Amino acid sequence: MTMQGKTPETIILGAGLTGLSAAYHGGGTVYEKSDGPGGKCISPKIDGYTFDLGIHVLHTRNEYVLNLLQNELKVDFIMQDRAAWIYSHETLTHYPFQANTFGLPIPIVKECLLSFIHAYQKSNGSKSHVYHNYEDWINAHFGKGIAKHFMVPYAEKFWTVSPKEMTTDWLDVRVPMPTLEEVVEGALTRQTKGFGPNIKFRYPTVNGIFELAESFVRGGVNVFLNKTAIQVDLERKKITFSDGTSCSYEVLISTIPLPELVRLSRVPEPIVAAAERLRYNSILCVNLGIDRDNLNANHWIYFPEKEYSFFRISFLKNFAASMTPGGKSSISAEIAYSGGQSVNKEQIVERVVEDLVKAKILLQKDRIDLVDVRDMKYGYVIYDHDREQSLKMIKNFFRKNSVLVAGRYGNWEYQWMDDAILDGKKVAEEASDFVARGVK
Ligand SMILES: Cc1cc2nc3c(=O)[nH]c(=O)nc-3n(C[C@H](O)[C@H](O)[C@H](O)COP(=O)(O)OP(=O)(O)OC[C@H]3O[C@@H](n4cnc5c(N)ncnc54)[C@H](O)[C@@H]3O)c2cc1C
Repeated sequence: MTMQGKTPETIILGAGLTGLSAAYHGGGTVYEKSDGPGGKCISPKIDGYTFDLGIHVLHTRNEYVLNLLQNELKVDFIMQDRAAWIYSHETLTHYPFQANTFGLPIPIVKECLLSFIHAYQKSNGSKSHVYHNYEDWINAHFGKGIAKHFMVPYAEKFWTVSPKEMTTDWLDVRVPMPTLEEVVEGALTRQTKGFGPNIKFRYPTVNGIFELAESFVRGGVNVFLNKTAIQVDLERKKITFSDGTSCSYEVLISTIPLPELVRLSRVPEPIVAAAERLRYNSILCVNLGIDRDNLNANHWIYFPEKEYSFFRISFLKNFAASMTPGGKSSISAEIAYSGGQSVNKEQIVERVVEDLVKAKILLQKDRIDLVDVRDMKYGYVIYDHDREQSLKMIKNFFRKNSVLVAGRYGNWEYQWMDDAILDGKKVAEEASDFVARGVK
């Protein structure tokens, strides 16, 4: 059976923010394997609680994206001042660690401060330095103390690989870089100054972060759901779905994870090998509904230490009151594990609860109303030393075959939601150029 057999057109695989944005900006038919749109930008609603897939806040300053979401697609946001902390050495300190060591045991503050000054003196004036890996970069910018007490253990826990295996081309604004004065100030006082791209963020008043994805559907994007692509025939330009249907395309926009696209298509051996070299971490999200009001006043807390199972926990009620039923709270714990491996979900839930009690977030007597576990096979793309070259090969190959890749997993990049929306717009424009030029 053929659904779109007569007129080949632009087909979009995946209805995450990238696919939805591509369809909104350029038209085309969207096919999605899940039973709803949104991809990573969904917010499951269970028994009056709403959860996201890990922390999802909109911290963009991009005027186009803000205008699109707020004015065109009518998303109603609450503006928030971020309250983010780090729990280490049984102490809560403000995020980011490098600018806020005040409150930690004095020998640790001293070690962090002295080695920061040493690194500062050493690197002063040599901004053009080339760093061999992320760990070198950390040591050069923050010194060995901050590296040892936060940056390296957190990187290992979050990325699931040594920072020595990573490049630095993903850093951009992602790791805040306080000045010497700010580091000293934050060692001597509990400074109130915020750092990083998300010191202020927007969050939808209702529906959780899914409101962003849903706004595109309200804006007219139509998605064919429960359509899992199982084969992409590059020669005949035809996609087959798991329900036996198929469609033809002139240009294919693929937002599904790049290794999956390679698996579905018949590609030369070097492309298969390049795809096997693409690395990623996976994220497990343990969501808990708690029978206690006002459990915690913050947005989220980072946990760099290995003895805690999660790298981060968040309190969704503080993002928007609509996220929990009256008189209740919720916690979302994020656990990173090595890409594609498996985790025992029952054991991990028990461990998360134990760790929350150990960190004094939960009390022994707290009643847990609800447990919900979400597993994300593809969490974050790992920027290792092979990524750039492998990626170039794969993308060039698909481009020559009228397949344009886009989005966080299609382009295999560390993209945020605003990047995904902008990438969707960009690829829609490229696709219409392809069609106009009649590229085969
Ligand atoms: C834990 C976590 C926290 C994040 N926090 C933030 C944040 O705070 N702020 C921020 O701005 N961004 C955040 N992001 C990034 C944000 O989620 C992404 O940039 C964005 O949602 C990616 O959208 P996408 O459409 O590119 O990919 P996805 O949302 O993954 O969409 C891809 C779609 O393809 C579908 N698909 C896959 N295979 C097939 C197939 N064979 N056939 C058909 N369909 C298929 C999938 O079901 C999915 O719907 C976070 C991401 C993660 C993982």
